[in-house]
Amino acid sequence: MTSDPAIRELLRLDAHHVWHPYGPMPATVAPLLVEEASGVRLRLADGRQLIDGMSSWWAAIHGYRHPVLDAALAEQAGRMSHVMFGGLTHEPAIRLAKALVELTPDGLEHVFLCDSGSVSVEVALKMCLQYWRSTGRPGKTRMLTWRGGYHGDTFHPMSVCDPEGGMHSLWRGVLPEQVFVQAPPPGFDAPLDESYADVLARTVEEHADELAAVVVEPVVQGAGGMRFHNPGYLRLLREITRANDVLLVFDEIATGFGRTGAFFAAEHAGVTPDVLCVGKALTGGYLTMAATLCTTEVAEGISRGEVPVLAHGPTFMGNPLASAVANASIGLLADGTWRDDVRRIERTLREGLAPAADVEGVVDVRVLGGIGVVQLDHAVDMAAATEALTSRGVWLRPFRDLIYTMPPYIMSDADLAVVAEAMVAAAEVS
Ligand SMILES: *Cc1c(COP(=O)(O)O)cnc(C)c1O
Repeated sequence: MTSDPAIRELLRLDAHHVWHPYGPMPATVAPLLVEEASGVRLRLADGRQLIDGMSSWWAAIHGYRHPVLDAALAEQAGRMSHVMFGGLTHEPAIRLAKALVELTPDGLEHVFLCDSGSVSVEVALKMCLQYWRSTGRPGKTRMLTWRGGYHGDTFHPMSVCDPEGGMHSLWRGVLPEQVFVQAPPPGFDAPLDESYADVLARTVEEHADELAAVVVEPVVQGAGGMRFHNPGYLRLLREITRANDVLLVFDEIATGFGRTGAFFAAEHAGVTPDVLCVGKALTGGYLTMAATLCTTEVAEGISRGEVPVLAHGPTFMGNPLASAVANASIGLLADGTWRDDVRRIERTLREGLAPAADVEGVVDVRVLGGIGVVQLDHAVDMAAATEALTSRGVWLRPFRDLIYTMPPYIMSDADLAVVAEAMVAAAEVS
């Protein structure tokens, strides 16, 4: 606890008035007060510096206060910070839509800009439901997904989150009941499990008449458990959804913009979904923005309907500041150095996290692209783990049985080694 009265007062007010994510009110654990951030470092009000291994929930891929992103934001603020998107348009949003169409798998032609990941999933689900309504099959109203997923905290996205981790029991009777299959067998390199593939195919076939879409996170299930799977299951999903008149939605909010080693995780499978969600790293972690892309078939299907419009329009849709900084962030990725960086991070984390495999209670150590995970056979002791991490100068936020990192792509090997060592230490005290 700090002795500085100004800091103490801020934290007192925070505890009193500010509701933090996934927390009770009042909070039981005081958050750290951050004053500034630059590069990969957070500077706390008490003067400590922490290496940020979280990229602020996987978004700040270029680090903080990147001069190019700062300049893009300042320049756009000098023109206009916002105008409504109904009846008006502007260059930053047009450029962003064009870039997203070019960067995402072929066939995704139309872009709906939204203000957060959860909203982009809402829009994706609305597109799918409305597509079937508009094309004369209103009975197709359910979603199918595999367990272990995470798609956001608003209500329809919650309905396709993992039914246990997503606290479905708390919301029984409120959430729409979707169709679940088991989580995909773990391991990016694990051979395809034929019996699982059969279950997946059979469940889609059995429910085809009532299914609007299959909704999954491709390759990496993020907040649902940081699990990786064989991209072959995505190819299979593409085939069976097509054969059964079911749409396919990929939620790439966590995996987009290089995190898994491919620009989009769908590239590992070589398939195009009907609808794609992006968010998180879209603006390089600067502002809240996400997007839902769809094929011409989906867009035209909706537009042929009795209500030929997509009834959605967030107030801050297409925000020019967020669009401008997203364009700048995508510009920083254009030279492809992110690919070398993600490979380098993968190598360094593999090496640095290897000792965790010998720690008692550790059941798995896995790395894919810019994601490193240490999984325990019990819940992480958050107080002890956080102390082990911060005392080594590292910021991470473990959850459930997982201690993991998704560092900014610019993190040096030396800093990555410190993060990995701290993760091993956190596993030891957990
Ligand atoms: C974070 C996340 C979301 C929700 O995005 P928000 O911007 O937090 O609403 C949805 N899907 C996935 C895969 C995510 O990682």
